[in-house]
Amino acid sequence: MASVQLINVNKVYDGGVHAVHDFSIDIKDKEFIVFVGPSGCGKSTTLRMIAGLEEISYGDFLIDGKLMNSAAPKDRDIAMVFQSYALYPQMTVYKNMAYALKLRKVPKDEIDARVKEAAKILKLTPYLDRKPRALSGGQRQRVALGRSIVRRPKVFLMDEPLSNLDAKLRVAMRSEIVRIHEEVGATTIYVTHDQIEAMTMASRIVVMKDGFIQQIGEPNEVYKNPANMFVAGFIGTPAMNFLHGIVEKGFFVLDGTGEKIRLTPDQKKLLANYEGKRLVYGIRPENLIFEEDDRFEKFKDCSFKLKTGMVELLGDIVNVHGTSGENKAILKMSSKYSVKDKTEITVATDCEYARFFNETTTRAITSNDCEYEEVEATDLTDEDKVVIVEKPKGLISKAVDAIKGAVNKKSDK
Ligand code: ADP
Repeated sequence: MASVQLINVNKVYDGGVHAVHDFSIDIKDKEFIVFVGPSGCGKSTTLRMIAGLEEISYGDFLIDGKLMNSAAPKDRDIAMVFQSYALYPQMTVYKNMAYALKLRKVPKDEIDARVKEAAKILKLTPYLDRKPRALSGGQRQRVALGRSIVRRPKVFLMDEPLSNLDAKLRVAMRSEIVRIHEEVGATTIYVTHDQIEAMTMASRIVVMKDGFIQQIGEPNEVYKNPANMFVAGFIGTPAMNFLHGIVEKGFFVLDGTGEKIRLTPDQKKLLANYEGKRLVYGIRPENLIFEEDDRFEKFKDCSFKLKTGMVELLGDIVNVHGTSGENKAILKMSSKYSVKDKTEITVATDCEYARFFNETTTRAITSNDCEYEEVEATDLTDEDKVVIVEKPKGLISKAVDAIKGAVNKKSDK
């Protein structure tokens, strides 16, 4: 099995489309990595560059520390499973799985052992003599996986392998693929636009947008600490609520209504440099607490009113869509509470879960991250005036020193 490394990998298609920008990741042996993002964000292009089906424009791609940029697909020891799992209709399950090995002139005994072992892992042993037309969709997808498993590749690549299956089967196959991955133990890279697949299957997720990596992390980490508003909105349903407002004297003051959400001591520390600045208060729908909930009392200093709109009853839970001035929010709660549309309710934020974002850059604010600061050097001419936005803390003072140096030089002249 294998480790995979991509270092500043880029793809520029003929015609100038820059589909993938500086893609870098270190994938450890046996990891299950999921590339997720909306259509057109560059997931398949990246996967195809790894497979050798698409040339890498620049950057390095290594397997087990060996540069593989120009290796032919067949020499990369990679198997790819696509969404359309074209099986040979005239061949039995056994022959479908054996075929690639037969072409590679693997001895018959070895083929037999590998097919039977794969069939066991895939729970296909009873179906080895059947033709594909006598199998269910899920069984056919497992045969397609089996054709890759028998080859014992270093790396498995899967491009939306479940998107042709109906919803129920997709859910079943998700856990099947995870189980198979655990048994086979091969490094796997899986592409999907479905954030639920990413959350449930991945050991680490790579969230992509417009050809750029937005965040790499374990599902839970990405969910709890999204790096920016795009990730916060893309991972999790319904999406995270974004409440716009201003930080003021230990409170977050909501736009429009002026309602105040108390900041926790940690949040005050985090936002110490943002007094009077506009920010976005991110809170997930399940971290809003309805006024009738017992927990409400504890968080009532962090509450605000919502005018209710659509109320979606989804069995055990209910999603209440609401507005607070210009801000929109969704409350996700147990359906044991009932709420009508076009009424006013009060909700509290379970404030420990709040996340703050820079309204301009959309980046999350973290204690060791960048801060928003404007530095204006009044001694300079208008042309030279410098506004530094979002520089790591240490760099700001260096930048200010540099500006002062520049001013002194100018006045020396
Ligand atoms: P995803 O898999 O995330 O849906 P793709 O990797 O297929 O996205 O595409 C990324 C971008 O590259 C898109 O803007 C797409 O239109 C463009 N693209 C894909 N294939 C080609 C190609 N052969 N020539 C030019 N542009 C392409």
